[in-house]
Amino acid sequence: MQNKNFIRKKITPIDVVHLAKAIQSGNFIALSRGITLCESKKQADRELANKLVKLCLPLSGNSIRIGITGVPGVGKSTFIENFGIHLIKNTKKKVAVLAVDPSSSKTKGSILGDKTRMEKLSTNPHAYIRPSPSSGSLGGVANQTRETIILCEAAGFEIIIVETVGVGQSETEVKEMTDFFLLLMLAGAGDELQGIKKGIMEMADGLLINKADGENVLNAKKARREYSNAFHLFSMSESGWTPQVDLCSALESINMDSAWKMVQDYITHTKDNGFFEKQRKKQLRFWFLKTIDELMHNSFYNSASLKGHLKELESKVEAKSISPFEAASEIFEAFKKSIK
Ligand code: GDP
Repeated sequence: MQNKNFIRKKITPIDVVHLAKAIQSGNFIALSRGITLCESKKQADRELANKLVKLCLPLSGNSIRIGITGVPGVGKSTFIENFGIHLIKNTKKKVAVLAVDPSSSKTKGSILGDKTRMEKLSTNPHAYIRPSPSSGSLGGVANQTRETIILCEAAGFEIIIVETVGVGQSETEVKEMTDFFLLLMLAGAGDELQGIKKGIMEMADGLLINKADGENVLNAKKARREYSNAFHLFSMSESGWTPQVDLCSALESINMDSAWKMVQDYITHTKDNGFFEKQRKKQLRFWFLKTIDELMHNSFYNSASLKGHLKELESKVEAKSISPFEAASEIFEAFKKSIK
C-alpha cells in the first residue's frame, strides 16, 4: 500500500489533509483510520473528523447507496457476500459494506462483527467491509455510518451497501442515508414470525424472498404473488415507483443479476423523474436537523448547572405542585440563560 507514512500515533490537523489525500487515492489503511477517527467520541478527534469529512465531501455522492434489512437468519450476510462478488465481477465497480447495528453493544456485534461471515468478499481487493462500531446510541452509530459513506465514496467506492437488522428503529435511519432500500424476507413464515413491521414494508423499494431454492421454490413463488399484491395496495409513493418483489437464493447465488437490475431500474426511474436528487437533498436536511437535535439534547442534559434544578422540578412535577409544561418552560428558560 502506498503512503503508509501518514499513519502516526498522534494526528495533527495537517495530517488530516494528508489522510484525506491517502483516502482519495484509494488507500484502505487510510480509509480505516479515517473511519476510526469519525467513530471516536473524543472532542479533539471530533474536530479532526469534521475536517476530514469536509475534505472528502467534494468527492462524495457518486455512488449507489443500498440499504439492506431483514431479521437475523434471513440470509443478509450470505446475500451481501454473493451479491457483492456478483457486482464486482459484472459491473467492475468497487463495493463497500457497512453496518448499522444498534444492538451491538449488547450482543457484541450481531452483524458483521465476524468478518469471516463474508470470507470471499472480505478478501476481495475491490471490496471493503467495515463492521459497525461496538457501542453508541442509535443516532450516534447512524451518524458515524453516514460519515463512513462519505469517506468510502471519496475512496472511490461506487456501490455502498448498508446492512441493518430489521427489528428495531435502525431501518428508518438507514432509509435516510440510502437511495434504495431492500428488504429480505423468507417464504412460509408469517410476517409476525419474521418480526417485520408493516412500516418496514412501506419503506422498501424492493423485496427479495430469499432461500428460494430446493423444496422452498414453490412457497417462494406463492409468497412473491402475495407480497406483490400487498405492494399494489399501498398508495403510490413520492418516487412514483412501485416496489418490486423477486426471488433469490443467496446461498446458491441465484438471481443476483435480477436483484441488481431491480436496483438499476429504480435508479434510472428516480434519476429520470428527479426524485433521486430530491431524496438526497431531503436526507441532508434530515441529518442536519437531527444533529442539531442531538447537540441541543446533549448540551441540555450534560449541563452541570441544570442538574439540581432538573431534579427539583421532577419532584415538583411528581407531587403535582407544578404542571409538566410549566416545569419544562421554567428549566428551558434557565437553560437559555446558562448558555448566554
Ligand atoms: P443473517 O443473519 O441475515 O445475516 O443470515 P445469514 O446470511 O447468516 O444466513 C443464515 C443461515 O441461512 C445460514 O446458515 C445460511 O447458510 C443460510 N442461508 C442464507 N441464504 C440462504 C439461501 O439462499 N438458501 C438457503 N437454503 N440457505 C441460506
